[in-house]
Amino acid sequence: MKRNKSSKNGSFSRRDFLKTGALSGMMLGSGAILKGCSSENGRAQPGDAKNIIFMVSDGMSNGTLTAADHILRRHYDRTSNWISLYEQNRVSRGLMDMASGSSIVTDSAAAASSWGCGQRLVNGRVNMTEEEEPLRTILQIFRDAGKATGLATTTTITHATPAGFGANVMNRGDQETIAEQYLENRYDVLLGGGNMFYSSEHRDDGRDLYSEYEEEGYKVVRKKDDMKAYDGNGKLLGIFYDGHLPYTLDHINTEEYKRDIPTLAEMTETSIKHLSRNTNGFILQVEGGRVDHAAHGNDAAGLIYDQIAFDDAIGAALEFAENRDDTLVIITTDHGNANPGLNGVGSGYSESEPRFDRIAEFRHTNNWFLPQLDENSSISEIRELVEHATKIEIRRDEAEILRQAYADDYENLHRMMSRPWPVMGQILANYLAFNWIGTSHTADYVELAALGPGSDRIGPITKNTDMFDLMIEMAGVQEYQEG
Ligand SMILES: [Zn+2]
Repeated sequence: MKRNKSSKNGSFSRRDFLKTGALSGMMLGSGAILKGCSSENGRAQPGDAKNIIFMVSDGMSNGTLTAADHILRRHYDRTSNWISLYEQNRVSRGLMDMASGSSIVTDSAAAASSWGCGQRLVNGRVNMTEEEEPLRTILQIFRDAGKATGLATTTTITHATPAGFGANVMNRGDQETIAEQYLENRYDVLLGGGNMFYSSEHRDDGRDLYSEYEEEGYKVVRKKDDMKAYDGNGKLLGIFYDGHLPYTLDHINTEEYKRDIPTLAEMTETSIKHLSRNTNGFILQVEGGRVDHAAHGNDAAGLIYDQIAFDDAIGAALEFAENRDDTLVIITTDHGNANPGLNGVGSGYSESEPRFDRIAEFRHTNNWFLPQLDENSSISEIRELVEHATKIEIRRDEAEILRQAYADDYENLHRMMSRPWPVMGQILANYLAFNWIGTSHTADYVELAALGPGSDRIGPITKNTDMFDLMIEMAGVQEYQEG
């Protein structure tokens, strides 16, 4: 069945989109596939999305989505939730053009801001114009419309992607200010890492933001069990690590992490539990933020297990959304990163699968062992530590090149790939058949999937800023846009 296009280029333009009446009429007769919406005329109307859950796997190339699904099928006897939604034809699906105001290669600040304020900004900015004017954010708009607001992430809660929905700073690195702005804005649920931007010991100004949040009525939790046990009606701040939360594979294999730090799925569940008590509905952004970091680091196991953790969070969102008709769930990424993929290796590519399967044997990420090595590490130390973490015996000449990379004595032909992290990624590619094109973001159009009211308006290709309009329109909060 074909879905109609709402404008010439196949996506809805902002102007067309705001003329909803005409658009609705046009789409009605188009035989649009209905995905989880049940308005009387068969099509969701503006205001039908009482709740919005926006899921971002940060820096997820298509190869990442695929690799996680393959690992789940081959070793865990299941499909990823994301690919299952495609298999069951339960979502509207398209590509999204994530260009920023300054480059077709976006950073996470400009990307999240494009959804968070509806404008393409210069990379690095968070909802600020070139004239240094703050732009009203989607969390502010929803809050003023009486909806509950939440952010949950595996990075610092003040990192670019969550900040893109609720903060205004000229420089995304200004995370101390972002932590203050969340409090000033009184968002309801904030869960992630970032103690270094909250505690008086780490902040430059010595302020203790935890007690400031408590004075404003927040429940502050620092451990998983306290997060789960909290059942009050107040606002909730949960900060579970100094910086970003540990990678999922290291979390699984480190007792104290498992005990104290929630998974992204657990944070998603908790967020929904609290936010959904608001009878006016809510907006929640959930970010699998370290998929991006693992891609920058060419860290295969870091990447795939964090993508799986993100996928589990999709499961938690679906658990809430799937048997109701009032929740728009958007699932996407903000940009590709390092574009990893499984290569064909061996005669008839027969070696690809056994090599790739080795990722399921890893005990730790590259990020766990690489900081323990340096230019003074011996070849045997390097080989032993790599084997401990990955069960792979790398060759002596490979270990020697890694040592040279630490000493800054190695230059790959693709020079971006000369540092220890990408060198390790390439060494492991010999054993895993899983390789990378670089160590930075890419300009690929990204996957966009949605279900629930308004999802049927997503065409084959969407401009990032159109997501802002879609959320505002479908939640029926247009009148709060100006503040
Ligand atoms: Zn990045």
